[in-house]
Amino acid sequence: MELVQTIKQVREALASTRKSGRVIGLVPTMGALHNGHEALFETARNECGVVVVSIFVNPLQFGPNEDFERYPRALVKDLEICGRQGADIVFNPSVHEMYPLPQLTFAEVTRVSDHLCGKFRPGHFRGVATVVLKLFNIVQPDRAYFGEKDLQQLAVIRRVVADLNVPIEIIGVPTVRDSDGLAISSRNQYLNPAERRAAPVLYRALQEAANRVRSGERNAAKVREAAIALLNGEPLIRIEYVEIVDPSEIQPLATVAGPVRIAAAVWIGGTRLIDNVIGN
Ligand code: AMP
Repeated sequence: MELVQTIKQVREALASTRKSGRVIGLVPTMGALHNGHEALFETARNECGVVVVSIFVNPLQFGPNEDFERYPRALVKDLEICGRQGADIVFNPSVHEMYPLPQLTFAEVTRVSDHLCGKFRPGHFRGVATVVLKLFNIVQPDRAYFGEKDLQQLAVIRRVVADLNVPIEIIGVPTVRDSDGLAISSRNQYLNPAERRAAPVLYRALQEAANRVRSGERNAAKVREAAIALLNGEPLIRIEYVEIVDPSEIQPLATVAGPVRIAAAVWIGGTRLIDNVIGN
């Protein structure tokens, strides 16, 4: 496995691979790697000849009052995981390497970014779409792997690629959970023991809402109420949103007609958690 920190190095490291015609897979991450990331690595390894993992905490996607500074960084352990998972190249650039000039050009996906997290984190998806497009241009992979845990992010990336004719196949990987249902996230380590015990109610609430849809409920307000009732029963939780949305444009729905996703964001103390499930 090769650790590279500059754009020039990553391009050089991939030049012969590209000539050999081997399929290049990219897994973009912010590090603090866990089992969720490992599922992405495994999928990529099964489908690609060469796996590139990027580890970059992207300042552009954090709001001014968000956790950029305290976001967990664990490069030594991350490299150990990448090695064990058979990554071929780890690209770990500095902020200056990625943004040598003030960034004046952005990828912005309207509509798909309007609701859910986009509404509460202004500029977040613009930052995500921009850095991912930069990584796509740097690595030029054939395929790129993203987790379904970040439903809206995946929809945003799919739309960038479709709208801008980016010749990369986007692969979504199902959410990996702890045994009590909590979706694994680098931010889970912010939770104290009481908060960690409360956190699985998020997934239970989403499952409860999905059960309503499966039992025939078509009124999205009623489906939301089922989840909200469970979340409100947990005093440590403050709801940011619970929405029923269409999976491609992430628009909140009043009525369940076609396929839907049920998504929520909650605060537990100072930690913001998101999750989503298939509704039907
Ligand atoms: P992050 O490092 O949090 O930016 O995540 C990097 C990638 O891993 C994103 O595509 C995430 O959606 C994905 N990911 C994070 N947590 C999970 C999880 N629990 N299951 C599946 N994918 C995940």
